[in-house]
Amino acid sequence: ELLRNSLDDRIAEPTPALGTLERGEPIQVFAAPPGTPAKPRIARAEGIYMWDTDGRRYVDAGSGPVACNIGYGNRRVLAALQTQAAAAAFANPASFESAANRLFAERLAVAAGPGYERVFVVSGGSEANEAAIKLARQMAVARGEAARWKVVSRQPSYHGGTLGALSVTGDPTAHELFGPLMKPMPKVPAPVTYRIPPGFDQESWAEHCAEVLERTILDEGPETVLAFIQEPVGGLATGALVPHAAYMRRVREICTRHGVMLIHDEVMSGGGRTGAFLSHEHWPDCRPDLVVLAKGAGAGYFPLGVVLAPRDRVAEVASGGGFMHGHTAFGNPLACAVGLAVLDETLDNGLVGNAAEQGGRLRARLDDLMARSPIVGDVRGKGLLLAVELVADKATKTPFPPSAVAGATLARVAMEQGLILYQRRTNAGRDGDWVMVAPPLIATAGEIDMIADGIASAVAETARRLGAA
Ligand code: PMP
Repeated sequence: ELLRNSLDDRIAEPTPALGTLERGEPIQVFAAPPGTPAKPRIARAEGIYMWDTDGRRYVDAGSGPVACNIGYGNRRVLAALQTQAAAAAFANPASFESAANRLFAERLAVAAGPGYERVFVVSGGSEANEAAIKLARQMAVARGEAARWKVVSRQPSYHGGTLGALSVTGDPTAHELFGPLMKPMPKVPAPVTYRIPPGFDQESWAEHCAEVLERTILDEGPETVLAFIQEPVGGLATGALVPHAAYMRRVREICTRHGVMLIHDEVMSGGGRTGAFLSHEHWPDCRPDLVVLAKGAGAGYFPLGVVLAPRDRVAEVASGGGFMHGHTAFGNPLACAVGLAVLDETLDNGLVGNAAEQGGRLRARLDDLMARSPIVGDVRGKGLLLAVELVADKATKTPFPPSAVAGATLARVAMEQGLILYQRRTNAGRDGDWVMVAPPLIATAGEIDMIADGIASAVAETARRLGAA
């Protein structure tokens, strides 16, 4: 309380560093374009609810950026943070190991299952993807395959905002801007399920996308291809794309045939959100070589990213001189204490099963909304990682023009009504417009119904505004 008051007092007073920042004025740390609406100021959060400093309540149906998997104010996590911070908030990973790191790694490896016995802890999703790529590279070098360096990925996709992660991200707008700073990496089409090109059905398009992956590897020279990275269940870049089973099976076969490592970016989908602890449980014939977790692993309580790797391949790297990768926050004890507490909460309270059950409930309600609403063209996803795609014409699947910012409008309308959805500011550079619906995995059936009602009401108002526009 004291801290909050003192922070509020301080921000109300203009300081030389902040200039004359008024309450409600947008804070320009993100260099937001003019016209960006001011954000409410967070006061507190509990469960799936958040309150601003004006006392307004919001239901967080996006788990922040699909991160806060166990909701806010979790007692076990707060206690773990406090206990670890009091014991040792930091210990140089070059000098010390920590019980928190050991316990987290052990419990996570058990939850992940055979083949993922080694756990590298970093500070976030982009960093973890880069660590996975570097680890894959060292694994190749350790096997005498030093010519392998290219990392193939899907178009569109999102693997992070740092330069290495961005180079494998399928986002032409970002590449146009930052391209000169990055090494070009091969891209292959994402196996989209909604706007399938003419002449294909779901399965033949899935097969075709897999064939393009194989052709790309052959054209590049398989001996130069290090890895293929994919989001097994997509995030914001594709709007919770769930690939056809034929695609996933073929991807694994192709990677194995050409000695290409398969990396699953489960930054958003991992840790139980899709109704399985790891997404490959949905596709048992597509087990990746490396798995990356982040958002759900720290659940918003602490910056945390993880790479899961097989024991034997890590041993080869170790005997070749060790993994050449370290950050100040590598294996951070506070991050690990939080990761362990989040994992305990997830597993002990059956939140993976709850994600499957409540995901099914929410999906049924959204499917019903799609049947009735003139602007809901598609609903897709798995568990509590869902997306609602908006279209101007359902028969032709024609998106709204980017200038209509349909998805952002829906997210804004929902926010006005006290419901938070996850969405980008614009849909520039995308082939459609959607919002993510991804409540915390602790949501009850009653809360899911409330969220579904809220989305239906926000969609109706959005249709009215877009129609008027
Ligand atoms: N990969 C995926 C699939 C993501 O959704 C994100 C975050 N949106 C990232 C990587 C990057 O993670 P971070 O923001 O923690 O760096």
